Amino acid sequence: MAKFHFSRLRHELHSIFLNNWFLEDNQSLPTIGSASYFVEENSSSIQCHRQVKSWLEDCLENHSSCSSQDDCALPTRVVNVGLISDDDLKYQQPFLFEPSGASGRYVALSYCWGKNANTVTTTSETFQAHKQCIEMDSLPKTIQDAITITRSLRIPYIWIDALCIIQGDPSDWAREAGKMCHVYSSAVLTISASNASSSNEGIFGPQRFGAPPRPLSYCGNTVYVCQNVAREHNRFEVQMRMREPMPLNRRAWTLQEGVLSNRIVHYTSSELVWECNDRFLCECGFANMKIEMGDEISNRSIRQPELAREMKIDRKIAYQKWRDLVMVFMERQISVDDDRLAAFSGLARQFRRLLRAASGGAGSDQYIAGLWAGDLAHGMLWSVEDDWFRQSRDLEIEYRRPKSWRAPSWSWAAFEGPVEYAPLTRLESMIDVVEAEALPRTMYDEMGQVTSARLILNGTYCPGTNAMRSLCYFQHHPTSKWHLGVISLSSSLSWEY
Ligand SMILES: [Zn+2]
Ligand SMILES: [Zn+2]
Repeated sequence: MAKFHFSRLRHELHSIFLNNWFLEDNQSLPTIGSASYFVEENSSSIQCHRQVKSWLEDCLENHSSCSSQDDCALPTRVVNVGLISDDDLKYQQPFLFEPSGASGRYVALSYCWGKNANTVTTTSETFQAHKQCIEMDSLPKTIQDAITITRSLRIPYIWIDALCIIQGDPSDWAREAGKMCHVYSSAVLTISASNASSSNEGIFGPQRFGAPPRPLSYCGNTVYVCQNVAREHNRFEVQMRMREPMPLNRRAWTLQEGVLSNRIVHYTSSELVWECNDRFLCECGFANMKIEMGDEISNRSIRQPELAREMKIDRKIAYQKWRDLVMVFMERQISVDDDRLAAFSGLARQFRRLLRAASGGAGSDQYIAGLWAGDLAHGMLWSVEDDWFRQSRDLEIEYRRPKSWRAPSWSWAAFEGPVEYAPLTRLESMIDVVEAEALPRTMYDEMGQVTSARLILNGTYCPGTNAMRSLCYFQHHPTSKWHLGVISLSSSLSWEY
């Protein structure tokens, strides 16, 4: 059996190269690049289930930065996945369970409903029947797959919005939407159906990094080459924003679901990816890394506000994080215009904790329709994304006003589409807030939708550099003219480009 070592034999596809190669009669697979493990061809495999279970067990038992998170108060409703004790192969049909304050472990699902999806939902008509049984076969593929994963982890419950919120009941929806922060931050694990744009598509599928080696003819012999996955790893893509993000990362609701989850497994088109407060891991092993205290991308400081001091998060940094999240959030699409502020209320709730912790537990900040009273000067300096960014965007993104009033003109929520903030590093607010008020639409979620808002400020309107830039921009886009802030800027402006 001949085996040759070759350095970087390039193939016609620049993403493929080979560090060593072997002849056809070699039964073993080549070791390529720096990847440590082989990736399964399809994420439905038993090996993938084992991988997720092993990541979860390791996190619960060994990660010092992650709480062991034994049982916690279960959400208002969960789906019992039908485990039968001591039997890994047989299950009962799932059913809706109302824990009434009981504790337990549950998984949460983050997924796209999708347009025209055949989503089975709990309504006032199906509520009693679902408490008896939810036929597995009647469920859309994504929900079936999520239940299969939960069963393989031997976790008894899963929270899925379509089944655990009574659809079509506005007060139940409002009450439960106001609990999103708890639902996702208390789940033992969140399953992220990253690559499915609709609940009919399912979570499992072929994994690009698991493609088998391709045969190539070379000097009269057949050699096998694997893709060099090393250069295809981009942690930012999995977690946040890219020009062409995965389907889940295009949706507004799922941003807070991901940011608030303490453990999340992403089923991507390439491979499985794990994220917790201690580790970022992927199935091939190339991206494995420990998350350090000051890690910027992990959002750990938002999930663990009690560590704000240790992470050197002060109010200024916390406000900056808020504005960064607003920009990511506004890049994402929402099916119902009216839901914008509700889809961000879980994060607002968590930021209230972070801001309190960042100021040493002293006082709390007022939340006014997407802005913080303590950051009004900078918070109001948002503008609609400029043409340069627009041209580099996906065509699906819309730039428009909401179909009906949902926020005051000085809030970013008064617009639909990506926004940006003036990149000021030294901004000294010279405004006094005389009166600030936003009336919540429902008593169940004081940080969600609003019916009206009012802001009276005292200050000097200064048509300085930034104000001019904003005004010039709005002239280009006449539909945006309603945005006007009363802001006074200090003379020490600093621009970053
Ligand atoms: Zn962990
Ligand atoms: Zn990987």
